[in-house]
Amino acid sequence: MAKTKHIFVTGGVVSSLGKGLTSASIGMLLERRGLRVRMQKLDPYINVDPGTMSPYQHGEVYVLDDGSETDLDLGHYERFTNGPLTRDANYTTGQIYLSVIEKERRGEFLGKTVQVIPHVTNEIKQCIRSLADDDVDVVITEIGGTVGDIESQPFLEAIRQFSLDAGKENCLYIHLTLVPYLKAAGELKTKPTQHSVGQLREIGIQPDILVCRSERAVSRDDREKIALFCNVPLEAVIEERDKDFSIYEVPLSLVDHGLDELIVKRLGLDADPLDMQDWRELLRRVKNPEHEISIAVVGKYAEHKDAYKSIYESIDHAGLANYAQVRIGRIQSEEVEREGPERLLSGYDGILVPGGFGERGIEGKVEAIRFARERGIPFFGICLGMQCAVIEFGRNVVGLENAHSSEFDKNTPHPVICLLDDQKRVVEKGGTMRLGAQPSTLEPESKAAQLYETRDILERHRHRYEFNNVYRQQFSAHGMRFSGTSPDGKLVEIVELEDHPFFLAVQYHPEFKSKPTASHPLFRGFVEAAVQRRSNEKRSASPA
Ligand code: GLN
Repeated sequence: MAKTKHIFVTGGVVSSLGKGLTSASIGMLLERRGLRVRMQKLDPYINVDPGTMSPYQHGEVYVLDDGSETDLDLGHYERFTNGPLTRDANYTTGQIYLSVIEKERRGEFLGKTVQVIPHVTNEIKQCIRSLADDDVDVVITEIGGTVGDIESQPFLEAIRQFSLDAGKENCLYIHLTLVPYLKAAGELKTKPTQHSVGQLREIGIQPDILVCRSERAVSRDDREKIALFCNVPLEAVIEERDKDFSIYEVPLSLVDHGLDELIVKRLGLDADPLDMQDWRELLRRVKNPEHEISIAVVGKYAEHKDAYKSIYESIDHAGLANYAQVRIGRIQSEEVEREGPERLLSGYDGILVPGGFGERGIEGKVEAIRFARERGIPFFGICLGMQCAVIEFGRNVVGLENAHSSEFDKNTPHPVICLLDDQKRVVEKGGTMRLGAQPSTLEPESKAAQLYETRDILERHRHRYEFNNVYRQQFSAHGMRFSGTSPDGKLVEIVELEDHPFFLAVQYHPEFKSKPTASHPLFRGFVEAAVQRRSNEKRSASPA
């Protein structure tokens, strides 16, 4: 059995270059060439995981089946590749140090002074090795942060050492860099790339391939210059031009510039020819939509572009499945409180309320849901979005005055959403929610069962609070259908309303299981209902 090969992806010059997307695209191309790929991200921050970080700091927390709370780049990996992702796909400095310190406390270092080199770097190398296996051809490890950051140094040192252990021929270093266009000079500038590669070389890493992000085409002259100064062959200077149209163009553009072929050649991989037919078809759909609709996402962190990353992506996938171009309106829920739903939400074909924590903006979400329910606008609630739908229904349909979640009002007379006993005992914040893939059973003939086309589903959770079963009968009597529950029937997982074009809300996070080529059934159904609404409106607006 051939040894697992390792690809390391680093980033230089600036952050936010799209390293996650580029790494995911490389993973996708290699998988499509018949290789078995595992993806991994090493994050240089000291939090043990992003679960305790504010979305303002870190964007979305991406949850895996096994319940680990991870970096949002893992979302790109899962959307673009098919290899399994588990806990060992994301390590942080915090986790690495925690493990080293625990070993020290157990006396495992036998009296030695514990140091960054070799103890921390050994731990990092072990994390990378943990993904290599007989049934894995390539491990792609993305190093978070930017070359030159103090925090990244142990990781860079570890990947430098890695090729000594694993063999140079088994490792490939890809450096993603920025080649900015200077308007005043009217040209692309290669100096930042030279400097950033210079920093890598100083610590002993000679990148094999440079992927150059740029808003303009990188000319042969520029590539030659980069090649010469950075000590790489010309064919290994790959352009990755900004894609203003669609992120789905990224893998195709990398293919056009020969990246997959180069990787296969350099690592001596035995790979199949590449087939991107379905992906090209996807892009054709992006460029030729049959419908145009708009969806409002009403959340607390709406102004932050990454806070609901997987939700926006899942809406896009559902748009593709419905041949629709979806304009997403990011609406601050507090704005809804100030301006009223009529002003902000009229004109949208669907309203989605995503997950979240904290009281700020809750009333705006409840108002938005009432608006959707009363006006027959397709509504999709996710996690906190479901909890708000329950609060709204409790207050305005069941007539439970001041119904609330006990997360936001400890003294509410009607805690329709509350903590169950096992959560009441929890005091630590990190990794203590109800997390990861959990089964649900769907009611036959419900909207949910129709869309999933099955009665048994497995979806990812990340929450503490639950529907309060004391109110189940009362809610049912007023028309709320509990169409999905945990298999023992105790936990409410899905609620829906029947006399509405689409009103469905879930306690879990379906957005973590949607792919561009396989839209999640609930998102697909929601967007389909929005398309339907838009067509009906058009029909009723056009003269008979
Ligand atoms: N704050 C709510 C809870 O903990 C919802 C969490 C979420 O939306 N992810 O139950």
